[in-house]
Amino acid sequence: MTIADLSAELKQVLNTIQEFVDAEIIPLEPLFLAHKFDELQPRLQAVRATARGLGLWLPQIPEAYGGMGLSLVEFGHVSEQLGRSLLGHYVFNCQAPDAGNMEILIAHGTETQQEKFLHPLLRGEIHSCFAMTEPENPGSNPTWMSTTAVKEGDSYIIDGHKWFTTAADRAAFAIVMAVTDSHAPKHRRASQIIVPTDTPGFHFLRNIAVMGETGDGLASHAEIRYDECRVPQEYLLGAEGAGFAIAQERLGPGRIHHCMRWIGICERAYDLMCRYAVLRQVAPGRTLAQQQTIQNWVAELRAEINASRLLVLHAAHKIDREGSYAARDDISLIKFYVANVLQRVLDLAIQTHGALGMTDELPLAYWYRHERAARIYDGPDEVHKRAVARRIFQRYGG
Ligand SMILES: Cc1cc2nc3c(=O)[nH]c(=O)nc-3n(C[C@H](O)[C@H](O)[C@H](O)COP(=O)(O)OP(=O)(O)OC[C@H]3O[C@@H](n4cnc5c(N)ncnc54)[C@H](O)[C@@H]3O)c2cc1C
Repeated sequence: MTIADLSAELKQVLNTIQEFVDAEIIPLEPLFLAHKFDELQPRLQAVRATARGLGLWLPQIPEAYGGMGLSLVEFGHVSEQLGRSLLGHYVFNCQAPDAGNMEILIAHGTETQQEKFLHPLLRGEIHSCFAMTEPENPGSNPTWMSTTAVKEGDSYIIDGHKWFTTAADRAAFAIVMAVTDSHAPKHRRASQIIVPTDTPGFHFLRNIAVMGETGDGLASHAEIRYDECRVPQEYLLGAEGAGFAIAQERLGPGRIHHCMRWIGICERAYDLMCRYAVLRQVAPGRTLAQQQTIQNWVAELRAEINASRLLVLHAAHKIDREGSYAARDDISLIKFYVANVLQRVLDLAIQTHGALGMTDELPLAYWYRHERAARIYDGPDEVHKRAVARRIFQRYGG
């Protein structure tokens, strides 16, 4: 389960990926931090083509669909390496939300849906988004939503209001959660429906500014209205009423992807912090690394990052062997635990760098702004803690 247990072949792949991230991807970060996503496209597409040529493409996708066919544990290790850079997942075509959408299209897409939506996504030609959260309803309770999809002839007519639809900017289609039967039991009310973004009635209202940044391309979160948006019924994903179950299915492995990406971020921030601490002098001949406060942080964070990795790999191993449902407690534990470790690592790495930590000359401030959301998306901390605690108390008869 740990790196020592991996095959020699995968260890070699991980080495190649580590070198690739250092040599080809990290040098693009200053451009990413200073320019619009579109302006970076020619450089990014060139690096993507190189990665693909090396067979480093779609690590989480089965070989039959052109991916590397890794298990979740194996992908966890790859995801950590990619997470060290702001652009790693994008270059390997395993970035959220496309990665999750690919997985559900593989599991539930019809042949027509796969041809039209999945294959261009796998080839890296288009992007997609996932629209569940609504401003008027609590995203932490996705059984309660107002967006509806009503059948008319061969179509669904979709009406609703969504926000925080990540990467809707430039997306070719959205997978939209909408209520198809308001009288069904609450977990069977909603369905997932593919909506091409050029459908009349798909109104992109704005990218929402997050911590002062409106963002664009993949690094953006949109507000969208669906006004009598008509799509063919054949764009229904899976069975009618299965929207919630498919969302849960997507979120299990998705949380492993996020957590291992966060560990990659932690390792990079920690590395920057240690490098800086041994060089920066607070008085002639006295470095930051000689200060006991910094020494405490470096020791504590090392323990927290190592513990996070073991927890995540344990959860991934359980999903690989027994499925997401059996691993639901482990998934909730890593989701809130690693998100909080991430926050602490970024905070202390910035603190160690002083004013430099607040600038965009390092990736720390960008991560600090954007990854605060780690404790909110894919289930806020409190919801995961409540779910785990309830099941623990059930075992005590509570
Ligand atoms: C950067 C970012 C990207 C996102 N991307 C997407 C996306 O691509 N697609 C999409 O559909 N959504 C996306 N979301 C939305 C995200 O999934 C929701 O924000 C999340 O589910 C929480 O829903 P909410 O914001 O409506 O908060 P609410 O449900 O209103 O909850 C507010 C707060 O109340 C507390 N709380 C809620 N329930 C409980 C409880 N049972 N017990 C105790 N406390 C509780 C929590 O602290 C929570 O943070 C994104 C959000 C962010 C910030």
